[in-house]
Amino acid sequence: MCMRDSFQLSPHTRPPHVVLFLYMAPPPPAAADQEEHPAPPLPLLLPSSTSPFPVIVIGLGLVGSAAARHLSAALGSSLLAIGPPEPSISWADYNGPFASHYDQGRLARISDPDPVWAAMAARSMARYSALEQASGIRFHEAIGSLRVSPLPDGSLYQSLQVGRQQGAQQELIEDHNVLQEKFPCFRFETGDAAIMERGAAGYINPRNMVSAQLALAQKNGACIVHEGVREIVPIGYGVRIVTWKGQIFWARKALVCAGIYSKFLLPGRTRVLDLTVHARTVLLAEVGSEEAERLRTMPTFIWHLPKNPYLNWAYGCPPVKYPDGRLALKVGGTAWEAVDVGHCEADLDSWFKGGGDKAERAALEDVLLRQLMPGLQTRSLSCKPCAVSFTAHGRPYIDSVDGERPASTARVFVAAGGCGAAAKSADEIGRMAALLVLNGRWVSDMDPMMFRAVFKTKSSK
Ligand SMILES: Cc1cc2nc3c(=O)[nH]c(=O)nc-3n(C[C@H](O)[C@H](O)[C@H](O)COP(=O)(O)OP(=O)(O)OC[C@H]3O[C@@H](n4cnc5c(N)ncnc54)[C@H](O)[C@@H]3O)c2cc1C
Repeated sequence: MCMRDSFQLSPHTRPPHVVLFLYMAPPPPAAADQEEHPAPPLPLLLPSSTSPFPVIVIGLGLVGSAAARHLSAALGSSLLAIGPPEPSISWADYNGPFASHYDQGRLARISDPDPVWAAMAARSMARYSALEQASGIRFHEAIGSLRVSPLPDGSLYQSLQVGRQQGAQQELIEDHNVLQEKFPCFRFETGDAAIMERGAAGYINPRNMVSAQLALAQKNGACIVHEGVREIVPIGYGVRIVTWKGQIFWARKALVCAGIYSKFLLPGRTRVLDLTVHARTVLLAEVGSEEAERLRTMPTFIWHLPKNPYLNWAYGCPPVKYPDGRLALKVGGTAWEAVDVGHCEADLDSWFKGGGDKAERAALEDVLLRQLMPGLQTRSLSCKPCAVSFTAHGRPYIDSVDGERPASTARVFVAAGGCGAAAKSADEIGRMAALLVLNGRWVSDMDPMMFRAVFKTKSSK
């Protein structure tokens, strides 16, 4: 029997029956590392076996929880996954990392102009149903997804073609009158065309998806520690992980999946991961149950707005229940000019505690209530800050990030940089990362160069 089957730590407790304090010298450091990390041997906090964990996953958001599930299938109780839970207190009083997934809806669709994103979405979405069944946790609603663009727009046809290659069930509608008839909850303009994707397209509840992934990882025996990691120190052939509360864990390899915080966690003095963090404000339009009923056939949408002075794109989810019991329709967008709030952790903290951007909220209100859904009956409007991370090449970083070491001997790996699109694709991103870490080499039919980590020197912004 695995001693750690129910190993779930609250932020304040450590299961003494599972974890022992062992005072052992760490593995002898390699010469190069000794110079970089001259720290004296520290007490080891190890599981009841005396060997370090083969892998520790750091960050239990959408990507980390997926990676943990895939790794747990191979490693069982030898896998440790660490990450804080969503704050249960007011964000103003919370001192810890925020995340990109603290919400009730994330769009899921295959159609995309980028074949890599489309493939990752298709592979992930194909596994939703099995994940729900195995975990007993529902997170996916296949209500369809509409992608609207005023013509001419090459990206619409490109999305259609790429979607087709990935097996998406799509319908192209090029007549705005037909669109109006089929989707009366929206207002279309002359020249609007759209792809309606059905099949598994719709939305996921990202919180429930994380719960499903972690439930299955635990079922496989993985240990889950609900705490934040302060430091990752590569020493010799492994890593020392220090948590906020001072717990120390040893592992052969660490996989960092800390979303917008990933670049602050990676070890290394001279270079920093090239990860830009864009501030996003979302608008929640509370509706009554009658209005929600009227909108029961509304698909999720993503809408190109080339003439809007503030927003390039808007997207939205139909009314869903929020934890406070309200039914709210959510819209968000991509501003033409993005604000980078990811220079340091303090910037991120201020952004998440600041209540969102007033100009973006006003632009979203205008688009939703005066352009896309002018008939919407709302009870209240509120907004929320969020943030997304962008990589240098527009695909997630899934790579070893241990100086000059190749993946075969690397101790530190990263899977981060969702580019505002990783929720639906997190299962495949987590799977590719898990395979890389387990095998010490790239194991996927996708080209690893598309996922290579890109760095900047620490002084440059
Ligand atoms: C407003 C908004 C709308 C979006 N809409 C969509 C959409 O419709 N469809 C879509 O596919 N994607 C969407 N996205 C993007 C998607 O949510 C992200 O790409 C996705 O959440 C990234 O997953 P992640 O695991 O990399 O990061 P996250 O989900 O942010 O998880 C990172 C985790 O790391 C943890 N962490 C941070 N620091 C530490 C530390 N020191 N120690 C331990 N753990 C740490 C955090 O607590 C967090 O749980 C949207 C994002 C936003 C903000």
